[in-house]
Amino acid sequence: MIPLSTPDLSGNEARYLQQCIEDGFVSTAGAFVPRIEEMVALHSGARQAVATASGTCALHVGLVALGVKPDDLVILPSYTFIASANAISHAGAIPWLFDISADSWTLDPKLLAAKLESETRRVGPDIIHKVSGRRVSAIMPVYALGMPADMEPIVLLARHYRLPVLADAAAALGATYMGKPIGRLGADLSMISFNGNKTVTSGGGGALLGDNLELMGFVKHLVSTARTGEDYTHDRVGYNYRMTNIEAAVGSAQMERADSLVAAKRRIRAAYDDALSELPGVGLFPSPPWADGACWFSGITLAPPAPPPERLRQILRESGIEGRPFWKPMHLQPPYQDAPRTEMPVTDDIWKRVLTLPCSTHLSSADQAKVIVVVKESLA
Ligand SMILES: *Cc1c(COP(=O)(O)O)cnc(C)c1O
Repeated sequence: MIPLSTPDLSGNEARYLQQCIEDGFVSTAGAFVPRIEEMVALHSGARQAVATASGTCALHVGLVALGVKPDDLVILPSYTFIASANAISHAGAIPWLFDISADSWTLDPKLLAAKLESETRRVGPDIIHKVSGRRVSAIMPVYALGMPADMEPIVLLARHYRLPVLADAAAALGATYMGKPIGRLGADLSMISFNGNKTVTSGGGGALLGDNLELMGFVKHLVSTARTGEDYTHDRVGYNYRMTNIEAAVGSAQMERADSLVAAKRRIRAAYDDALSELPGVGLFPSPPWADGACWFSGITLAPPAPPPERLRQILRESGIEGRPFWKPMHLQPPYQDAPRTEMPVTDDIWKRVLTLPCSTHLSSADQAKVIVVVKESLA
């Protein structure tokens, strides 16, 4: 079977894990946690990184640190993994779901401008959503498939409305936007995930990136139970959201190879794009001119005369190849049935037509060639 995507753990992962056991540092203390934080900050261009137990809890604590309160609205593209919306719920807030741009599958800045203008009003320091009366307290752009959102206009709007920005850059490590790495795109905080299915993994884990050292200090305080000293005093309700040294050991070994892992993802994407772009009914994953995405997953979109994704998935499976559907948008998820939303023409059109294809960083060119042959034959 050629799997969709599996991690490549052939670097220093085993050696560093062994070191954790030998040194006895298996929990949140130990040298690998600060090491991965430094590596991630350096790689992303952010001044500081705080490692966390998952990307989801990094988003949760990021929202709390940026002042999101229960019953607020947080702007979120509907086309994302459910963790982004769940983190908003964990903070007691509600996602305000937005459609995406067809050219990037990320939050559409024109739609954002139009809705902030027509559906909110300023009351004192607050931006109030007129219909629900709720306060809008943050914007969470999502870098879908590791492709940065169009951050320049989004950040300008955020500044104009004085809304903080928390970027869900879960799988975007290594991506650039107008030549800049993901820690330099103007978000107050950015989250990356080291979950096992991401390009760079620590097994489970995540990180928040930021430049404001006071805010980052607060994040660190929140994720480590808000402890103020050695005497078990805690000055607020904090969280046990720290990454462990074991996870950081694996993650540090992966970070050493981050550039080559991302390069492999991009090479695989380019080979599929070259081979499949001319097939009738086949569309490619987006590649807007302003960004160089991290190509977390590769795949295609399908429209007639091509068969529907589920049919192609079966054909692939019969040939020993794994393909999968991708995210079902938030406005179609039971927990978010009542969440306020924009019209969704682009999201509704795209999500059902996506099929992801094998794209492990260590996928051999022979295996990729086999995938390409089976896809081409099934569309002939
Ligand atoms: C993976 C992912 C997350 C969640 O990260 P975890 O580390 O699995 O909690 C959130 N948002 C997006 C877009 C993701 O791809």
